[in-house]
Amino acid sequence: MRVMRPPTLNPLFASLSTLPGIGPRLEKLYARLLGRESEKPRVVDLLFHFPTGFVDRRNQPKLSEIRPDTVVTVAVTVNRHRPPPPHRPRAPYNIDTFDDTNTLTITYFNARRDYLEKLFPVGETRYVSGLATLYDGHLQMAHPDRVVDEAGFANLPLIDPVYPLTEGLHSGQLHRAIEAALNRLPKSLPEWQDKAWLERNAFASFAESLRRVHRPQSPDDIKPESGPWSRLAYDELLAGQLALALLRAHQRIRAGRGSAAEGRLRARIITALPYALTPSQQQAVTEIVADLAQPTRMLRLLQGDVGSGKTVVALLAAAQVIEAGRQAAFMAPTEILARQHFSTVAPLAGRAGIRAALLTGRERGRERDETLTALAAGTIDLIVGTHALFQEEVSFRDLALAIVDEQHRFGVHQRLALAHKGEAVDLLVLTATPIPRTLVLTYFGDMDVSALREKPAGRQKVDTRAVPLDRLNEVIEAVARALDEGRRVYWVCPLVEESELVDLAAAEERFGALKKRFGDRVDLVHGRMRGADKDRAMARFAAGEARLLVATTVIEVGVDVPEASVMVIEHAERFGLAQLHQLRGRVGRGAEQSTCLLLYKAPLGETAKARLAILRETDDGFRIAEEDLRLRGEGDVLGTRQSGEPGFRIARLELHGKLLSAARDDAAFVLSRDPKLSSLRGEALRHLLYLFSRDEAIRLLAAG
Ligand code: ADP
Ligand code: MG
Repeated sequence: MRVMRPPTLNPLFASLSTLPGIGPRLEKLYARLLGRESEKPRVVDLLFHFPTGFVDRRNQPKLSEIRPDTVVTVAVTVNRHRPPPPHRPRAPYNIDTFDDTNTLTITYFNARRDYLEKLFPVGETRYVSGLATLYDGHLQMAHPDRVVDEAGFANLPLIDPVYPLTEGLHSGQLHRAIEAALNRLPKSLPEWQDKAWLERNAFASFAESLRRVHRPQSPDDIKPESGPWSRLAYDELLAGQLALALLRAHQRIRAGRGSAAEGRLRARIITALPYALTPSQQQAVTEIVADLAQPTRMLRLLQGDVGSGKTVVALLAAAQVIEAGRQAAFMAPTEILARQHFSTVAPLAGRAGIRAALLTGRERGRERDETLTALAAGTIDLIVGTHALFQEEVSFRDLALAIVDEQHRFGVHQRLALAHKGEAVDLLVLTATPIPRTLVLTYFGDMDVSALREKPAGRQKVDTRAVPLDRLNEVIEAVARALDEGRRVYWVCPLVEESELVDLAAAEERFGALKKRFGDRVDLVHGRMRGADKDRAMARFAAGEARLLVATTVIEVGVDVPEASVMVIEHAERFGLAQLHQLRGRVGRGAEQSTCLLLYKAPLGETAKARLAILRETDDGFRIAEEDLRLRGEGDVLGTRQSGEPGFRIARLELHGKLLSAARDDAAFVLSRDPKLSSLRGEALRHLLYLFSRDEAIRLLAAG
């Protein structure tokens, strides 16, 4: 099977330095601008660099009609040059011009005389475009952004796109480069979209759409909702969905073993639980057990808000494969969480006769060796751990099920790595960020979803309040009262990426101050602590030896201390909505009425204000996730911007979300008829996969 890039695309995959005027220096700037610093920027990367706005050059008044402080494009005759006097070389360089209604002074600072004399020959007409202002009662235009003669005016774009730039790169250079890139578009690209569908949406071809976005005819062309932009967004989404569907089909083909069991172990665990499963927990277990019995590979997402009880569902899934004589791995994103999962799961597993062990980066020496040997021999049924489980030396006798908690912290590659540790490993992903439906599709393709929608019985809504930081003293008094009542309190200090050390210092300072006030009841836990110290602090808090735990966001995910009932979040305005929701979910887990205090620095910006309001209003994680998406754009919901997993370049999920489900259906439809992409449309779609760097999927096709 052919896995070569179609040669028609070669001009688009040529390095940017093949465009006129782009040498090594500019190439570096483009690499930065286009986010391709590790590889060379290509022509196609530049074509996918879209404008974020435009300058309207349609406003072409006579000088007497100009409204000051607007962008105008005017035809003027050059009257005379007034360079700065020799004794004041830093004074502005003025050029007097006129039309038949008024005069206009064009002003430059630090400009070269010979250059300006060439640009503005006395007695000739020039078209200048820029911001017109009134200075001392005279019309003035400083540094026009366009100066052209008659011929140039004929080519002047009336809607001039504005692009994001990077330091050292001028907009003129970028415009010229994009023009050159557009000229590289192949004349005869095959159409990979369904013709009827294109017609129904009045979408133009790929190449034509790109030309329209970069050479807009009207301001509407530049909007993400426009036809050209939507078509290209759909291309990008379809490429993504197709790649995911191919990956999934590939995994399905390679699957082939069911783990059938009667459910004896499951029943024993359920009997040992101090509570009854909620209906949606039962439902999820039923769905998972059915998947596990199938001879195809399971790819299932278990979505549930914080505290909705995913861990026990995961354990019940593990029990099922273990009863079938196979093994399960349960992987958590942090050391603390792995330990916590282990301490929850181990006793229950023990009651059912399941042999469980823990493996993180901190297990070393003999104990570790024994665990590894037992895993390979199959005398451990369930291993709980961190990404240490990915390591090469970890091998299983017969791994059947990989459970990954908080998947989005792991990349897709790691997900595959774990799956490769066994034969046709079933995958269950747990996520506490209730991911909006649109994003589920994006990141997980047609992964099946089980959702835990209700909270375990007896939970109460957390009383949430926003308090400005200048009322800190009142908050400390409230904490004092809570501590006196024997309650347990989290105090979270933000960690902002840029300066971990400064933030840490802030957390330590807060800890110091609270310790002065509350003494030994206060403890500190932060991301820079040694693992053992972290555990000790968490354990002291869980046991009630410490009652006030000052923490950086290391406690964000999953930590479970049901007795904690007060959550103070300092600088709440610095957190994302989903993150605040996660943090708040640490309290309100017991029967007690809980409180969450969002300390913010006034004044709040619009978005921060909206975030805190939503949080006070609802504790429905699904709704919060949708709002989060709306307020912040898709990257931040999953924290992908930080982890560097590529999002979309063209599609905006908040705007093109509807197209996403269409793309998913389309991908499924295409593959159902043409699983090898060998039909005419299939061949065309291969072009699409290359254009959006999804060609890895084509290699899967070849591997069969
Ligand atoms: P999460 O979904 O956030 O991972 P956990 O699995 O940590 O939630 O469960 C949160 C808490 O709820 C734990 O203390 C767990 O024992 C408890 N729990 C789980 N299921 C139920 C249930 N059906 N009824 C009551 N408590 C439950
Ligand atoms: Mg959890």
